Amino acid sequence: MSVAANRRRSMSQRPGSQPASRQGSLEEPLFAPGAQEAEEGGQPGVIADGRFVSMEHYSQRAQWLRAGVLGANDGLVSVASLMMGVGGGSEDAKTLVLSGVAGLVGGALSMAAGEYISVYSQKDSQEADMAKERQAQEHGPQMRQYELEELAKIYEDRGLPKELAHQVAVHFTKHDVLTAHARDELGIDPDDLANPLQASVASAISFSIGAGIPLLSAAFIKDHVTRLAVVLAASTVALAVFGAVGAALGGASTIRGAIRVVIGGVIAMLVTYGVGRLFGV
Ligand SMILES: [Zn+2]
Repeated sequence: MSVAANRRRSMSQRPGSQPASRQGSLEEPLFAPGAQEAEEGGQPGVIADGRFVSMEHYSQRAQWLRAGVLGANDGLVSVASLMMGVGGGSEDAKTLVLSGVAGLVGGALSMAAGEYISVYSQKDSQEADMAKERQAQEHGPQMRQYELEELAKIYEDRGLPKELAHQVAVHFTKHDVLTAHARDELGIDPDDLANPLQASVASAISFSIGAGIPLLSAAFIKDHVTRLAVVLAASTVALAVFGAVGAALGGASTIRGAIRVVIGGVIAMLVTYGVGRLFGV
């Protein structure tokens, strides 16, 4: 079971961001039971409730969710800290809520802009890499032969016998040479290039969800001290949840993940509260 699970998992792994030619070495046992499970968080089950669960879809969704949780965590910590700081310096409810709203909008837009720029430049370099492969193919028979041998070497490095690696490279070259080089040499899925707009909207939304927690928990409470206490308490609970979920999606210990995130967030909130008191009226 375990061996089969590992084999299926390793076949469903997609090339990551590192050059594919450096993946997979022969020194490590490829399908040693447990070896990969330990690395990837000890979730060997591809069969759950008698159903076949695709590991590929699972890990892709997990990546998405994890980015979302991190964004929400950002929004929560920055807006909760902002509000604690303002609350430390002023007892005015309107000021507190206003600072939360401004923090949410400013933070979400800043996240969106930053994400857009970073993903756009990633997409740019992916496209430039693919353009180079296209030029190589158009450069003439000698260059095409070089590219073919390059591809065969990649498959050989991944563990295929020399002869078979060459055959596979020839087949893929005939079938769709650019996709083969993009996927196996560059680690890019040409059908699934990074999408800057999608990434920026997603990060703005996840930031806003996190930021909404301290904002909403403060909005309806009259007494100043209670209000700050509720912001602190609600944010701490949410931090624990985000930390645990983020850790679980990354395959790490949920308790340690929760504690780490709670400690970091609470320190941020208390420090800004102290600064707010110091400079407050
Ligand atoms: Zn190439």
